[in-house]
Amino acid sequence: MVRQFILSIAILLLSLFSHSFAQSSLMRFVDGSGNTLAQAQIIEQDGGLYLPIQTLREAFDPGMKQQYIELTKRLTLNLKEKQLRLRIGSLAVSADSDETQLSLAHPPRIIEGQLMLPLSFFTDLLPEIYDFRVTHNPVIQTIHITDKAAPLPELTTDTATEGPAKFLVILDPGHGGADTGYRGTTLRAEKDIVLDLAKKIEEVARQNQVAVLLTRDADFEQRPRERIDIAQNNLGKLFLSLHCNASFSQHAAGIHLYVSNSLGITYVDRPPTNPSRASQNSVTIETLSQENFLKQSRQFATILQTELEKLSPAPIPLSELPLATLAAVYMPAVLIEIGYLSNEADEARLADPENLALIAAGIVQAIQTYVTESDQAEATANGR
Ligand SMILES: [Zn+2]
Repeated sequence: MVRQFILSIAILLLSLFSHSFAQSSLMRFVDGSGNTLAQAQIIEQDGGLYLPIQTLREAFDPGMKQQYIELTKRLTLNLKEKQLRLRIGSLAVSADSDETQLSLAHPPRIIEGQLMLPLSFFTDLLPEIYDFRVTHNPVIQTIHITDKAAPLPELTTDTATEGPAKFLVILDPGHGGADTGYRGTTLRAEKDIVLDLAKKIEEVARQNQVAVLLTRDADFEQRPRERIDIAQNNLGKLFLSLHCNASFSQHAAGIHLYVSNSLGITYVDRPPTNPSRASQNSVTIETLSQENFLKQSRQFATILQTELEKLSPAPIPLSELPLATLAAVYMPAVLIEIGYLSNEADEARLADPENLALIAAGIVQAIQTYVTESDQAEATANGR
């Protein structure tokens, strides 16, 4: 009864979340190599999205000079050897001694005492004046800044317009930015390996008309809550978290699959890490949300296990543990550790693009099998 009550509240909250406009309140600026240049909280005002002027200095020109005259509300920016003149509350922008007149979609504003520029200043205006490309990815709120001559950055897809019936898979490459995850002997970090794999899976998925969305598509830090919001707001149907393992034993090797279960039942190997969490008292809204999908999570994990064992010399273990990463995910979810960075052979395997491509193909095949099985189960349930 209490469980049902908590569940209905959880569903209510989720339906509210899924209608919110911005996917994440944090905007990240990323360069062509995937490094984070700046990040800032996005503020929404009168239908426009705003970023503090400081991000312009951090992401585009550390030597930028700004002058604001309160009386006239005029804002002058000396940015990359050009002068831009704006006015608070006005859509007009002039550049280079009034020779260039441009217009913004929303006016610059002062919000809570801070000079704020509209998103269109970054995405539309800057590329018109300067020689770089600015690509905004609204799904995970990143702005990629690249050379105009460089190829278009590969952005994770925006599937929001393709209808709610679409089966969207959320790929969650672990760690990022300062959080490197494990590092192997060759200093290749877990954060980079799992991002490579996520991009590989995305590529194979596209070729097979499987819709996927990455919770990060470059090297930046992403909080667990943001990852889950991206999954939830985009109505993901399946969540796959990608990680690498490490062990004190150099002999520990191979892929390992995990499903989150707050009761911590391990039915292959490995005891639960913290048996005290197995008490009924540990059931909260967070654990309850993934708990509701335990059956489907197990089903997908089992399919993955079968598919990936085709590539593995040894059987792939599947464990159930209380996993903080997956506990609050409100959809079937599996965590995969694709190998041990503490094991030399595994590390070499993970550095090999051909091997990553095989794993990616196996994962996409498993997704397709899972979708087919779910469709059949639904058809049977509906008496078709
Ligand atoms: Zn990890």
